[in-house]
Amino acid sequence: MNKIPEINITTNKNLDTKTIAELAEMNDKFMEIHFKDYRKDQNLTNYIINKYLAEKNNLSSKIRELENKLNILEEACKIISEIMGDKWEKINKINVFIGFCPIIPRFLDTKSFILPYELNVNIKIHFSVHEIIHFLYFQKWAKIYKKDSIETFESPHQNWILSEIIAPVIMRDGRIFDLIKTESNLYPEWKKIDDQYKYFDEFLSLYYKTSDFEDFLIEAKKKYYEIDNKINLTSLLTSRDSQHMG
Ligand SMILES: [Zn+2]
Repeated sequence: MNKIPEINITTNKNLDTKTIAELAEMNDKFMEIHFKDYRKDQNLTNYIINKYLAEKNNLSSKIRELENKLNILEEACKIISEIMGDKWEKINKINVFIGFCPIIPRFLDTKSFILPYELNVNIKIHFSVHEIIHFLYFQKWAKIYKKDSIETFESPHQNWILSEIIAPVIMRDGRIFDLIKTESNLYPEWKKIDDQYKYFDEFLSLYYKTSDFEDFLIEAKKKYYEIDNKINLTSLLTSRDSQHMG
């Protein structure tokens, strides 16, 4: 019996507030871009706490809406495990937080992520599957590349970039596509670079050419550095002003 993690859908006001504050600290324009009603002289923590109060009922109904589709996320866990040829092992709980942070931050250490509450439920499922892929992906990666530290799994490291290219590759696997029925792609800014350099298809075709997932990861890593040498992919994908975390 292949055990899957328990998926817990809830809110986490403190984590959401802390993450938004950190992003605002890193980027002067963050609040202006994402929170139109925020005034510069407002206390950010109070502003978010008030949002939680004002949207209390809405948050609850958004949680219930996603809970009603929990079977899709559970099925995705089974398929991801099948694709990667790896069990969930110590990952026995995944926390999906419905909140206000707009950029879907994920936390590998606690196997959790924050989804913006206003997203349509099918889009929430789409991004949840993307994040859930990362959790098992990095477990698998760490088994193959034992010396790679956890820091390299985060932006702007090459292991992280590769993981963000591979997540949409996996999501195009017919088993996942048939389940969630939404097409997955690169980040919009990365897609523009792909229009010019066509790197995504190289990983996509590698996915179908390789014998199993481990083989794919080994070949994909080689491919990444090969492309990086040719076109400086790492700097192309990290030079843009993009705050991707998840
Ligand atoms: Zn991602």
